[in-house]
Amino acid sequence: MKAFVCPSCSVEVWFDSLACEHCATAIAYDLVADEFVALTSPCRNRESAERCNWQATADGRWCASCSLDVHDAAHELRRPFQLAKRRSLRQLARHGIEPGRRRPDLRFDLRASTPEAPVVTGHQDGLITLDTAEAEPSELESVRTALGEPYRTPLGHVRHELGHWWWATAIDDEIDRAAFRRQFGDERADYAAALESHYNSPDDGSWRDDHVSFYAASHPWEDFAESFAHVLHIDDTYETAAVRNVVEPAGIGDFEHLYARWVPFTLTLNEINRSMGTPDPYPFAVAPPAVDKFTTVAGSFPGSRANRDRR
Ligand SMILES: [Zn+2]
Ligand SMILES: [Zn+2]
Ligand SMILES: [Zn+2]
Repeated sequence: MKAFVCPSCSVEVWFDSLACEHCATAIAYDLVADEFVALTSPCRNRESAERCNWQATADGRWCASCSLDVHDAAHELRRPFQLAKRRSLRQLARHGIEPGRRRPDLRFDLRASTPEAPVVTGHQDGLITLDTAEAEPSELESVRTALGEPYRTPLGHVRHELGHWWWATAIDDEIDRAAFRRQFGDERADYAAALESHYNSPDDGSWRDDHVSFYAASHPWEDFAESFAHVLHIDDTYETAAVRNVVEPAGIGDFEHLYARWVPFTLTLNEINRSMGTPDPYPFAVAPPAVDKFTTVAGSFPGSRANRDRR
C-alpha cells in the first residue's frame, strides 16, 4: 500500500483515515487519483457503522466500492470486510481492472451467519458472498483451527473470491484456456464432487509440491483463486515495504524479478514478528510450480507489463 498524505498539511494519513490526525481536515480517498483529497462528496456509508472513507462516484451517493453491494444493511461486522474490499479494489484499479467495464457484473453480498441462517462464502456468476460473522476474531480463529489453515483473514477471503470473478471475466480473453488447463488442470472436473472429496480427505502434505495451499489442490478454480489472492498479498505487502524504503521497488509487471526479492523479504518479515512474540504473518513456503501459477495470474492483469509484452 502506498503511503498517503493529508491534502491540507502533507502529514501521513492511513488508508482507512476519515480525518487527518494532525490538522483535523476531513478527508476522503479518491480512487481515480489514488490519493486522499479534502472531503467533498462523502460516500453514503461514511456515517454508517462501516465508516467508509471513499469519495462518492460522480453519478451517485455511494463510492465505487459500496455501490457493488447488493444490499445496504450497514453493520459493524461488515466494516473489516468493507475495508478489505476497498483495499483490494484499489489494487485492481492500479492493475487496469475496472469491474464496471467487465462481465459478469461484480457484486457483493455481505451478511453474517446465524445458527438459523448460515451464510456460505463463495462466488457465483459475479456475485461474491462473504460471511461477515468471521469479523469476530474468536469465530475466525475457530474456523481457521477447524480447517487447519495457517492463514485466514477477511482480506484473504475478499481476494480469493475476487480471484473466482477474475477467472470468469478473463478466461479466453486475458487467460488462454488451453494454457490454463495445462497449468492448473481441467476446470470441467465436477466441482461439487471435488470439494466433497477435498473435505473428506486428510491433509497428507502432497499438495506442497505444486500448490500454494491444501485448499488450492481441491479443484483448478480454487487453485486459481488461491494463486490470485496470493499475488495480491505479495503486491500489496511488497508495495508497502518499498514505499517505506525497506526493499527496492519492484512491480508485478515483472513478476519473477519481484518474487526473487519477495522471498528474502518474507524471512525478514517473519523474524521481525518473532522478535515481538507474534505469529509469522507469512506462514508459506511455495514450491516453484506454484510460483509459476502466480506468474500466470500476474501476467493476466491488463496493466501489467508482462501482459503488454505478450501482445
Ligand atoms: Zn492534515
Ligand atoms: Zn463507500
Ligand atoms: Zn474459492
